[in-house]
Amino acid sequence: MREQKQERHDDDPAPDAEQRAEEPGEKADDDEPHRRILRPVVDALARLSEDPGRTAVILDVDGTLAPIVGRPELAKVPQETRAEVERLAGRYALVACVSGRTGAEAERLVGVEGVVYVGVHGLELAPEAERWREALRPFAGLDWPWLEDKGLAVALHWREAPDEAHARRELEAVALRAREAGLEGRWGRKVLELRPPVEADKGTAVRSLLAERDLRRALYAGDDTTDLDAFNGLDGLEVAVRVAVASGEAPPGMREAADVVVGSPDELLELLRQL
Ligand SMILES: [Mg+2]
Repeated sequence: MREQKQERHDDDPAPDAEQRAEEPGEKADDDEPHRRILRPVVDALARLSEDPGRTAVILDVDGTLAPIVGRPELAKVPQETRAEVERLAGRYALVACVSGRTGAEAERLVGVEGVVYVGVHGLELAPEAERWREALRPFAGLDWPWLEDKGLAVALHWREAPDEAHARRELEAVALRAREAGLEGRWGRKVLELRPPVEADKGTAVRSLLAERDLRRALYAGDDTTDLDAFNGLDGLEVAVRVAVASGEAPPGMREAADVVVGSPDELLELLRQL
């Protein structure tokens, strides 16, 4: 996949796969339903598909399987996506969901048995995160209208704030207090997440999920900054496909770090059906 990534850099400027496919001389694939995907990625997807017993499919949940909605508690994984994840779980050595939500919450949302759910951006797989649970409690008790208490992290959203700039300034003050308490503040898609200062992210989670099962082939799909860590977690594998689900809000570097870019959870579903 390194060659493919190099090829993508050579094609710059190319903000998305659709535009690239329209460029003269581009090797868009005319035989596949997914015409925007370049031949090397089609080949890598075929290699994943031909050896499902040695392959992992790892998916973010919000913005990837479930379309982004104003209130995270109203997010839903569409029935057809759920059915597809179920099909994959029956076929591949590992199907996992690595989410910013708690593992329990991700499981409730996706609702497919046989899938491994890892919560709080991989923190749930990091034993040293536990001792910070108490330090997070005061922040979980903040008077903020869109607060999500995840036990090992506290997320403060501002997607629905009437004055986004004002909300962001208030949260910058919260982030400062959290740092004084020894915690870390991370900014995502209209969210500030307070978390323990431990070396755990979606990348460490992906690496341990793969290593535990001795898997050397994997696809990872995600849409946010924390998914870039997961992309890195695929480095060095025999076959790796990093899929960015890139909406208008895609974080900087997401498209460039991906092997393939799809425009929405619907388009991701179309891609998963090829596996
Ligand atoms: Mg996401």
